Amino acid sequence: MRESVAFFDDLQQRVDVGLRHQGYLFVARTDEGARAQRDLVAAQDGWGLDDVELLDGSEARRRFPYLADDIVNARFRQGDGWLEPRRLALELARASGARFETGRMVTGFMREGDRIRGVTTADGSVAAGTVVIAAGPLSGPLGKLAGLDLPLATVRRQKLILPEVPQVPPDAPMTIEFETGAHWRPAGTGAHALWTAPAPAEPPLDDVPTSAAFAFGLLDPTSDHALARIVPFWREVWSSSRLQWWLQAGQYTYTPDRRPLLGPTRIPGLAVNTGYSGHGIMGSIGGSRRAVDAITGRLNPGDNPFRPDRPMHARSFDVL
Ligand SMILES: Cc1cc2nc3c(=O)[nH]c(=O)nc-3n(C[C@H](O)[C@H](O)[C@H](O)COP(=O)(O)OP(=O)(O)OC[C@H]3O[C@@H](n4cnc5c(N)ncnc54)[C@H](O)[C@@H]3O)c2cc1C
Repeated sequence: MRESVAFFDDLQQRVDVGLRHQGYLFVARTDEGARAQRDLVAAQDGWGLDDVELLDGSEARRRFPYLADDIVNARFRQGDGWLEPRRLALELARASGARFETGRMVTGFMREGDRIRGVTTADGSVAAGTVVIAAGPLSGPLGKLAGLDLPLATVRRQKLILPEVPQVPPDAPMTIEFETGAHWRPAGTGAHALWTAPAPAEPPLDDVPTSAAFAFGLLDPTSDHALARIVPFWREVWSSSRLQWWLQAGQYTYTPDRRPLLGPTRIPGLAVNTGYSGHGIMGSIGGSRRAVDAITGRLNPGDNPFRPDRPMHARSFDVL
């Protein structure tokens, strides 16, 4: 992640990829949540993340006046932020000088004995010394086509997009309820909002349906994960006749240990760069570099903590 963030900072100097360091603000409404936040800040400090501020409720409200009166404490790191992934992807594609063929689905693999020698598509085959499966949620089915059982589960995640929310301060941080994970951040003249509660795995999908219940869960102030619980202006947003919103949906591609699968597989000529478990934008640069280093031999399998055949300990907690 740190490698990716350093890269994004450097890139933003030259090309506007929409990078904003407006910070992440986690707020707790319960004493138990506040205690957990305190412990987490201490642990993060031990991991070398020493610029996370722990604010009590009144200090948090002084700094972020839109917060609710019953916030017990807050955890804030100004260095955190976001960018526009589409701009990033297009800039990386442009700068790579590589040839891209979009809309051309891989339907199978070319083989020579055990070895993968390329891929087949509806419009013919493409030979390659190494094939990398980097198909996001569809990596599992593609792996199966090659005879590989990748430990991936796909879970639906939705994003609520509100194009116009006058109440949202454009310079606000990503503001997250610690207890529920429901969060929002400014975007253009409005906001994006998400909630990543534990959800059942479902088959990988290319076109993921949305559900209005997701939007109501965040917007309706009576919901148990309403945005209004930590930021009261969301009540006004809900009751405004001018409220407009739409939803986007995709799938997180989880591995059991919530870490990506990077590098060569047991099938010669076949590698993977997938399984980012909801962090594939943040992890894209550092992760992809490691995948390339593992494929070219610059990184030995023993030194690659993300090698696809590693033993994994399941992690049960959910992530943003
Ligand atoms: C609602 C939501 C919010 C998110 N928020 C964040 C966030 O805040 N920060 C963060 O870091 N990450 C976030 N993520 C996760 C992030 O979007 C993913 O981890 C990331 O997009 C994965 O990138 P990828 O390149 O591995 O896969 P993808 O972006 O899914 O790209 C895979 C590509 O492979 C193509 N493909 C599939 N099958 C085939 C085939 N057979 N032949 C050819 N091409 C194929 C697909 O069309 C697609 O273009 C979020 C995800 C969702 C759904």
